[in-house]
Amino acid sequence: MDAKSIPAKIGLASGALLLAVFCQVALAQGDADLAAPGATPAPTPSVGRSTLFQNVRIFDGRSAALSPPSNVLVKGNIIERISSEPIPVDSVIAGNGRTLMPGLIDAHWHAIMASVPQLVVMTADPNYLLQLLAARQAAATLMRGFTTVRDLGGPAFGLKRAIDEGVVVGPRIYPSGAFISQTSGHGDGRFSFEVPRLPGKSLSYSEVVGLAAIADSPDEVRLRAREQLRAGASQIRLMAGGGVASPYNPIESTQFTEPEIRAAVEAAENWGTYVTVHGYTPRSIQQAIAAGVKCIDHGHLIDEPTARLMAEKGMWWSLQPFLDDQDANPLVNPVSQKKALQVFAGTDNAYKLARKYKIKTAFGTDILFDARLTTRQGVILAKLVRWYTPAELLKMATADNGELMALTGFINPIPASWAW
Ligand SMILES: [Zn+2]
Repeated sequence: MDAKSIPAKIGLASGALLLAVFCQVALAQGDADLAAPGATPAPTPSVGRSTLFQNVRIFDGRSAALSPPSNVLVKGNIIERISSEPIPVDSVIAGNGRTLMPGLIDAHWHAIMASVPQLVVMTADPNYLLQLLAARQAAATLMRGFTTVRDLGGPAFGLKRAIDEGVVVGPRIYPSGAFISQTSGHGDGRFSFEVPRLPGKSLSYSEVVGLAAIADSPDEVRLRAREQLRAGASQIRLMAGGGVASPYNPIESTQFTEPEIRAAVEAAENWGTYVTVHGYTPRSIQQAIAAGVKCIDHGHLIDEPTARLMAEKGMWWSLQPFLDDQDANPLVNPVSQKKALQVFAGTDNAYKLARKYKIKTAFGTDILFDARLTTRQGVILAKLVRWYTPAELLKMATADNGELMALTGFINPIPASWAW
């Protein structure tokens, strides 16, 4: 079976829903033992229940070849047995020769902000935003086949807990908590009347609700990183360079200094985990690498020497297929629109360099501020056929992304028994 024969079976774009629901049934079997440390897992009806996936071809997340027709017995959360022989069990899902595969992982997700307009994020009652809108989106994310997301900014801790406890339905979340930004950085979305911050003055709205943490020295970065870890962050997200959606910083800007970023790296590494940074340009990426960061998010404006450096250092590159098409994030101001065009122009080169230097590449969508766009999560993955075979891109969104999730070390919210 060659790589190209896989999508014929699973129908990457239009068949994604079928695939999604299909694989999710297996992976949603009793999430009780996935609860975060300290959480009280609520029993779910499916714990320990056996389900047989009958007559399926298995994509294991690594090999382009599908298995011969097989029967897969899942008990609770564990795949107990795979056999070509019949396995007697009460609960059977007839695969009829379809493909069974691991759940998809989105390595750049914002559970709180993906489906909500930016103005609502900045102004709405947090209960409405965080508990109701985000919970509804979490269920939709799961049903699209994304069983795990790496949340790269936003107060997703409560949502994660509710999902782990079975209160609401949703994917497993690797939360970062608030993204840490310098004043005027990509994460500084404060209203103009909230700046300057005077001594003793209360935190800005975005800091109070846990969207952003503003820090302007190594000590402040260390403090804000430790606050996220205390709240349950599985990795730390730092804004290390200019961004698109934020109007107050040029895309070319380098943000934080090396000592500031290193302070976050030290805090993360003492917790067994890592820092991932937002950055588009060679300078921002190089500074982050020098400070000990393990993963670059975006990087679309990279140059060849920096790509070579990323390969040499074994960096992870969490890259998004940002293109000037119907799936671009909505941007209200012309400054952001202009910056987006710069990024779109770099996308093809970035993927080509990632391939050329065999950089460890992760898939993520970074969908923001638009409920319609969230429904395109699987379609955005399928766009990678411009640069990868279907089997390669499915491997990236399952096994490879899983490796990135495991960089969280001993605070990994998914038990180690869950080999990717
Ligand atoms: Zn993002």
